[in-house]
Amino acid sequence: MTTRYLADAVVTVDQADSIYRPGALDVEAGRVSWVGDPASAPPAPPDVVHLGGVVMPGLVNTHGHTPMTLLRSAGDGLPLDRWLREVVWPREAHASDEDVYWGMRLGCDELLSGGVTTTCEQYAHGRGLLEAVHEAGIRCVLTPAVFDIPGAGPEGTWQYMVSEAYALHRDHNDPGGLVTVGIGPHSVYALPAEALLSVAELAATTGGLIQIHVAETVQEGRLVKEAHGCSAPAVLERLGVLEHAVLAAHSVWLSDADLDIYATHDVAVAHCPQSNGKLGSGVARVADMRSRGIRVGLGTDGPASNDNLDLWEELRLAPLLARAVSADPAALGTKEALRLATRGGAEALGLDAGCLEPGRPADFIRLDGDDPVFVPMLDDADLLAHLVWAASSRLVTDVWVAGRQLVRGGTTMPAESAEARRQVASRARRLRDASLA
Ligand SMILES: [Zn+2]
Repeated sequence: MTTRYLADAVVTVDQADSIYRPGALDVEAGRVSWVGDPASAPPAPPDVVHLGGVVMPGLVNTHGHTPMTLLRSAGDGLPLDRWLREVVWPREAHASDEDVYWGMRLGCDELLSGGVTTTCEQYAHGRGLLEAVHEAGIRCVLTPAVFDIPGAGPEGTWQYMVSEAYALHRDHNDPGGLVTVGIGPHSVYALPAEALLSVAELAATTGGLIQIHVAETVQEGRLVKEAHGCSAPAVLERLGVLEHAVLAAHSVWLSDADLDIYATHDVAVAHCPQSNGKLGSGVARVADMRSRGIRVGLGTDGPASNDNLDLWEELRLAPLLARAVSADPAALGTKEALRLATRGGAEALGLDAGCLEPGRPADFIRLDGDDPVFVPMLDDADLLAHLVWAASSRLVTDVWVAGRQLVRGGTTMPAESAEARRQVASRARRLRDASLA
């Protein structure tokens, strides 16, 4: 059965960046079946919904550790290496599947109510995480974390985590549905070469996406150089990891030669400007990446380094920083910024979401158009500019994933936010106390 949604404006982010004012969007079996000017639409189906407002693709978060809602704001002011070793990993060492379930459940509410319809997650306790994902109905690419958690016992070793990634892929990978499973080696500096070879082997067997932190800080680059004699991208190339689909989070400190390695192997980047800023890591060379044709999406990173899951902030900050550091207002265009947050992010994940055209997943959001930030609207360029430079997550009223409505009138469904807040509050305290004992 087809449902037709009518809106004051439909922003498609298709190849031509088509905008229809007013617009109609037909959805059938979880996918877009038609989009365009209502005056030229096919005969109306029985089910027509008058949404008004602005309809656009849901945002795509390409790099998250969303269950870190359990650690929100922890370790503020520390550099990355001390933040991980002194605060994050000691708490995560005591986390269970159930903790991660509640952390993810709360995070899904936050993501969805802010208009994020896809999230790529790198975390341990994947079973707990996916239970929350299935309940929330969000689209998810899970790359189960692989690293040694100091003090976590046999389940905290990279060998166990690789075997767990195989099991999660076997049990949950569903490319026709909402969940795909890859693998998430933490980084070159936190893993031995042997572990990275095992990861590459899993990717060869399953075809899953490899998500890894790369070149996040200057200090990391020094460590990798001392240990391997070259940069992290060069290590990954040498080990054959880049023969597979790779998403490199951060990628802040890349040389021209590193960028060439990315372009040669079609490595995609998850750009996390806010996390990189808060941890004092630096600003990634996004404009240089795009000019080389490298696929780039935007990421919130975890809520201990951001500290929210509001991708609208990345949407604004990415072009803002790119322009500021290059002193060039043309460094990253407005259309391009919106693309990074939607279709570009999906392409970085190997998904066909992030765009409203026939055949694509019906992952879309509605924004309240009756707001000062949408005035004036003299032409389509104004609408795009307002979305990137003036709008924010507070305008998101309704959200659909695969045609199923998950947020209605600003409220996520099922509304479990109060219970999730209670659970995360008490579990966060337990993890903090255990890490100090
Ligand atoms: Zn990260």
